[in-house]
Amino acid sequence: MAAEDSCGILSSLSNKSSDHEFYTPVPKGYEAGRTKYLVITGSVISGVGKGIFTSSMGALLEAAGLKVEPIKFDGYLNQDAGTLNPYRHGEVFVLDDGAETDMDLGTYERFLDKNLSKQNYLTGGKIFNTVLSKERKGEYLGRDVQFIPHVTGEIKAFVRECANNTKSDVVLIEVGGTVGDLENGYFMEAMRQLQYEEGRQNVIFANVTYAFNPSSLGEYKSKPAQSGIRTLMSLGVQPEIVVVRASGEVGEKVREKISIYSNVPIERVVSLPDASSIYEVPIMLHEKGLDKAVLDLLGIKRAPAVRTEAAMRRWEDFCEALAKPTKSVKIGITGKYTEVKDSYASIMQAIEHSRAKAGCKVELVWIETSKLGQKSTDAEVAKILDGVNGIIVPGGFGSRGTEGKIKCIEFARKNRMPYLGLCYGMQMAVVEFCRNVLGLSKANSTEIDPDTPDMVIDILPEQKKIEGLGGNMRLGGKDIELAKGSVAAELYGKLKIRERFRHRYEVNPEYIERIQKAGMVFSGKAPNQPIMQVVEIPSHPFFVGTQFHPELSSRPFTPNPLFLGFVKACLEHAKKA
Ligand code: GLN
Repeated sequence: MAAEDSCGILSSLSNKSSDHEFYTPVPKGYEAGRTKYLVITGSVISGVGKGIFTSSMGALLEAAGLKVEPIKFDGYLNQDAGTLNPYRHGEVFVLDDGAETDMDLGTYERFLDKNLSKQNYLTGGKIFNTVLSKERKGEYLGRDVQFIPHVTGEIKAFVRECANNTKSDVVLIEVGGTVGDLENGYFMEAMRQLQYEEGRQNVIFANVTYAFNPSSLGEYKSKPAQSGIRTLMSLGVQPEIVVVRASGEVGEKVREKISIYSNVPIERVVSLPDASSIYEVPIMLHEKGLDKAVLDLLGIKRAPAVRTEAAMRRWEDFCEALAKPTKSVKIGITGKYTEVKDSYASIMQAIEHSRAKAGCKVELVWIETSKLGQKSTDAEVAKILDGVNGIIVPGGFGSRGTEGKIKCIEFARKNRMPYLGLCYGMQMAVVEFCRNVLGLSKANSTEIDPDTPDMVIDILPEQKKIEGLGGNMRLGGKDIELAKGSVAAELYGKLKIRERFRHRYEVNPEYIERIQKAGMVFSGKAPNQPIMQVVEIPSHPFFVGTQFHPELSSRPFTPNPLFLGFVKACLEHAKKA
């Protein structure tokens, strides 16, 4: 190994100007070697658990006593995930600082049990925006602006900025997509350079690949994985770890083949079969010694094993709590994106965390509400909701299926079935109440019917002047004041909470008094603003709607209190049924 390879060449590069081929902007105070990097790439196919692998490795490194920070690169040209259709791309995960990100950030937050921020997420659109604005400001004056060194330079700067600000021991970087994609090529190249500059003992690569088992053969084939890893190597990247995802455990022979083709020792070619719960993955990786391998490769001294063992026991207990229960409840989720479960990933996770604590299994029933309309009879609605113990109406935009959602809410309210309305689901609950209890038969949200005589849900005053649709909703974590004695206050166990928002519409303050008089209570408010954040019906066993998204703050060991309360109420409902 050359001398510069073992200690990195970064120190000789600092202060190189933007017209130099070695140009790489380095943040003030950055110390090469202080933070180590694990770069996670994918091959063969995407969507087989790179995000879960990254999160699980993060959890294991944290269990070893290290300060860990994840970063996700997404190659698309949107500046954030806010303008992406969840039907195509999975849910938009909103961070406390208001960043609209990829659903992987949700997985990171849940496994690492901490809040992330915009410094953990970078898209192609954002990086190009940075480079193009710098060019207009004349920061690269006299120079042709190129992918190398300028685009790659900004990507490395983003990563080092994050390491510097967070003083992390390890930064895990997940490159979205698979190797060989045009979209992520410049991210891959930037990571290759990062290793060159920081040294091989400070930056290592893992590749998450996939082995197929064609039913006509009945055995796992490694060829696509070999080719995928070869593509990575052709980009100048030598992985140190290969994770072989597959439906089942792949055998020694397949691992040997991958090992010989990729120069990765067989003990670091690890089989990772489908698990019954994603939360088993940290345990599986620990059993296969991957945490130890990463620490050894990065030259990090391990914390006493007892710390790791305590953390592992916590995951094991959680997985046991998921596997043990025999009682089951049925939860109906209404939604536009009924066939794409990724659109509701955080809701499903919040239910998972809650059911572990409540001690039950949950069967999800997806309710396609566009089949129901204003004219649907009670019997038709009852048939669709047959056997369901509780209903969630999740967030949404636009008008498709709304009349059906309102019908389901009416059914839940009248039949004392637990109801949880999330953002749009809260707004629809208010519309339903105004129509059927206050008798305002045409009440609506102006998002759905701009000409309604009773605009019970209307655009936020601050949103009226906004033009365009990128990153400008009422976004991110905000404080909420809960009313003493309310269901929400009881469940949270406190009167001041913080949750995350993503909306443009709100309850029209002009209707609040009338609604409250008729028995629906606004139990959560924004401090110093007349924005209603929680509604509930005290005379109902469980009827709660939130303007925020409680699912975003739920964590395995601390389920969101409203979800936990809802699942428990569903259990009660099931007992009576
Ligand atoms: N469309 C509604 C609004 O903008 C609800 C948004 C949501 O459910 N996230 O207010």
